[in-house]
Amino acid sequence: LAAELVADLLAGIQDDAAKGATPDYVPGSKRCCWTKAKTGDDTTDTMVSDLVVRALSQKLDPQELPAAETVAEDIEALSETGFTALGDGVFDTMTAAVEAAHAAQQQYLFCSMEARRNFVDGIRAVALDPAILNRISRMAADETGMGNAAHKVIKNRLAAEKSPGVEDLSTGAQSGDGGLTLVEYSPFGVIGAITPTTNPTETIICNAIGMLAAGNSVVFSVHPRAARVSLLLIKLLNRKLAALGAPENLIVTVQKPSIENTNAMMSHPLVRMLVATGGPGIVKTVMSSGKKAIGAGAGNPPVVVDETADLDKAAQDIINGCGFDNNLPCIAEKELIVVDQVADYLIKQMQKCGAMLISDPAVIARLEERVLNENGGLATDCVGKSAVHLLREVGISAGDDTKVILVETGKDHPFAVEELMMPILPVVRAANVDEAIDLAVALEGGNRHTAMMHSTNVRKLTRMAKLIQTTIFVKNGPSYAGIGVGGEGFGTFTIAGPTGEGLTSARSFARKRRCVMVEALNVR
Ligand code: NAD
Repeated sequence: LAAELVADLLAGIQDDAAKGATPDYVPGSKRCCWTKAKTGDDTTDTMVSDLVVRALSQKLDPQELPAAETVAEDIEALSETGFTALGDGVFDTMTAAVEAAHAAQQQYLFCSMEARRNFVDGIRAVALDPAILNRISRMAADETGMGNAAHKVIKNRLAAEKSPGVEDLSTGAQSGDGGLTLVEYSPFGVIGAITPTTNPTETIICNAIGMLAAGNSVVFSVHPRAARVSLLLIKLLNRKLAALGAPENLIVTVQKPSIENTNAMMSHPLVRMLVATGGPGIVKTVMSSGKKAIGAGAGNPPVVVDETADLDKAAQDIINGCGFDNNLPCIAEKELIVVDQVADYLIKQMQKCGAMLISDPAVIARLEERVLNENGGLATDCVGKSAVHLLREVGISAGDDTKVILVETGKDHPFAVEELMMPILPVVRAANVDEAIDLAVALEGGNRHTAMMHSTNVRKLTRMAKLIQTTIFVKNGPSYAGIGVGGEGFGTFTIAGPTGEGLTSARSFARKRRCVMVEALNVR
């Protein structure tokens, strides 16, 4: 089937390309539905999506793509000098980087909105260039040793396509006898943005679009474990901006990312706003900096299933969301709380969708020993690894279609309490839906990040939404519907629960300013 499907897809993709349309391959997309309908195969959306991505990777190999020649040359040229060489926005000291970004922003203040729109479109075009999209997705998976390249293609694409641009900056106006007052979104100046290992390139794309759309320049402080891919992307973005005539150094970073450099960035007086996407430590640090800060912190998203849910769909959605990019996304399903009455059926359905249930106590003990450290925290070398890899580590061989490991646990088990970021889904039984909701609230741990519920009982959906208070609450869908994949709304990779901006977009990176014209310009 795979060979036939790929051949079919390639024909379809060529057809799309001939018509000038971009193939769409996220789960639930037209392309996935088309594939399912065409083959009559009820393969899951994610599997079809994987296949399409694989087909695209073959088709979009840089050698086969004349249109991407210049980009491929760019990447080759950069590999010769090393991705971390100075130039194209990469500086040797944080002070030099911040000063360059400040000078750039001073010039940027005088660029038109049309120019800003062009520059933002340029960022999108770089990330969507097939050669670059594939390269950065593979590099991010290889360099960090976490997640899978095919899903990173989907995430990078989402960041490029669905992060709002200048259209997000709507102006407020009041007019009357006193004249005309405008309230406008205005830049902060230089923003210091700290990016995580789990979504290194996605966060750079999404933050660069939003921050530049709002008129800022940005200094990125990237995770040392994702330095090469982050610097490559920043260089490619700078080359594109230069080609579009943007002020030099709107997007900068340092050659050797480190905690010292991040601290130097945070304390530099020319940096007016800090945006941290990462764990609780860095969020607390930026919030204590004395500067305007956006903190997008950790989550531990629970998913609740009650007896009124469409259980077959719930099983599919949970496995799709939990297994996505090996469970790295901060929004991904991290523990399942299911009403006892339907638990056995749900588990059976999840097994049909690519989950493996582990119930042998000896194997569970080996898994605990392998993925947790002696303090009950995470063994970092297991974070973002595939279910197949983790199973192999405990002596079990599993087929490539195994996406998630299921383990029944109690509510206090570290698998349920910790944000594992591995495709291990603890299943906790509850006597009834109210108990399930209360357990979910406790396990979410006050992060107020993301939660999911599968139910057709509107009152219980409302009860959970009110009690859990998460920034994202997905009802009857996979977690990624909450960031615009198969659900309505724009996309983001910086979800700011602690500081309250919610799903960040251009306006989150702007200050509101009032501009008053006295006794004039009111034409009513
Ligand atoms: P992390 O906190 O280890 O690192 C994040 C960034 O902060 C990195 O660039 C790192 O170098 C820097 N950093 C961390 N501690 C620092 C310190 N003391 N001083 C200076 N810099 C410091 O997180 P990670 O492992 O890269 O990412 C995973 C975490 O991020 C998870 O908890 C996940 O939930 C969270 N996350 C949240 C969002 C969101 O939008 N809310 C998005 C992605 C990831």
